[in-house]
Amino acid sequence: MNGCVFCKIIKGEIKSEIVFEDRDTIAIKDINPQAPVHILVIPKLHIPTIVDIDEKTSTSIFNAIKEVSKILNLNSFRVVNNFGPDALQTIYHVHFHILAGRKFSWPPG
Ligand code: 5GP
Ligand code: ZN
Repeated sequence: MNGCVFCKIIKGEIKSEIVFEDRDTIAIKDINPQAPVHILVIPKLHIPTIVDIDEKTSTSIFNAIKEVSKILNLNSFRVVNNFGPDALQTIYHVHFHILAGRKFSWPPG
């Protein structure tokens, strides 16, 4: 989609550090990491939010999360999706944050 940062990353128009990629999904390092490990798992289709995801895409996202955990040898991590303004979603091309490498608090802030 025109003007979408993640679509540009997927097309290679904006550089990113890719940690995993398959036909449907890409996983990249976040440009502003909130933990020692901060990966974004992004479907290649421009899907705005978590409530717009179809079954095939959700399967590929969960597979990508598993593959990233294997590639980076993660034995503990948190997965986050921010949906909508109260949750501070800033990019309306759905993505899942994988955060690892430090202790996290619960409940989240
Ligand atoms: P949201 O707030 O929508 O859940 O998360 C958007 C995330 O995308 C943020 O963590 C932000 O740092 C990351 N981000 C924004 N622009 C870029 C970019 O150009 N490259 C990469 N790798 N990450 C980005
Ligand atoms: Zn997009």
